[in-house]
Amino acid sequence: MSAAHDRLAELIRSAGPVVALTGAGVSVPSGIPDFRTPGTGLWANVDPMEVAHISVWRRDPGRFWAFYGQRFAALEGKRPNGAHHALAELERQGRLDAVITQNIDGLHAAAGSREVIEVHGSIATASCLACGRRYSLADTRARLEAGAGGIPRCDCGQPLKPDVVLFGELLDEAAMSRAAALAAGAGLLLCAGSSLEVYPVAGLPDVTLEAGGRIAIATKGATPFDAHAAVRLDGDVEEDLQAVLARLSP
Ligand code: ZN
Repeated sequence: MSAAHDRLAELIRSAGPVVALTGAGVSVPSGIPDFRTPGTGLWANVDPMEVAHISVWRRDPGRFWAFYGQRFAALEGKRPNGAHHALAELERQGRLDAVITQNIDGLHAAAGSREVIEVHGSIATASCLACGRRYSLADTRARLEAGAGGIPRCDCGQPLKPDVVLFGELLDEAAMSRAAALAAGAGLLLCAGSSLEVYPVAGLPDVTLEAGGRIAIATKGATPFDAHAAVRLDGDVEEDLQAVLARLSP
């Protein structure tokens, strides 16, 4: 792999603006399962696309939170790993402009990344859709534990909704248009830990390619863009990004 690591390091040096696009695979080494993978852990007996749906939250918030509370629990105490740290360090060195992520776990920010576009939102806050009040993750957790029926409630009494994009909801338009602009301006779109199959994020590599930029892919398993990648890494994402960082660091 070291020749591919060399090539990716050289591209990061020379390709112009570099933007990262990350998916669930980047958080797997932190112990966070990719919940779209069937039969993994706590998602084994439930279809998240059915339960983590905006219609369930509206109709039956107790059922929604019985499920989503487990997700909060699964994310509690999780720390960024070498992949998050490598991207944060590349930004600190001035080699990376931004991270666009599908992840809601907040680990890019925890690793020190500053320009993070969370196209699926984040569990960092939860909101009341009735009065607009917003609560921190710690406050939401406390309300989840104390709330009758397992439902975290706003001071106004209405159920809270995590500020993540649920199934059945549209992606945040401002975040998505910012992501598209970054992809269009990128000399290199570094795709890490994403199967590049979930739209509309999966359309971003095409945006970069059509604007004349290049893409690199560091993820296990096939993606629809493998034939178009200037560099293709398919080892452990943490080791791959750390190996590339080591070639760029003074
Ligand atoms: Zn409220």
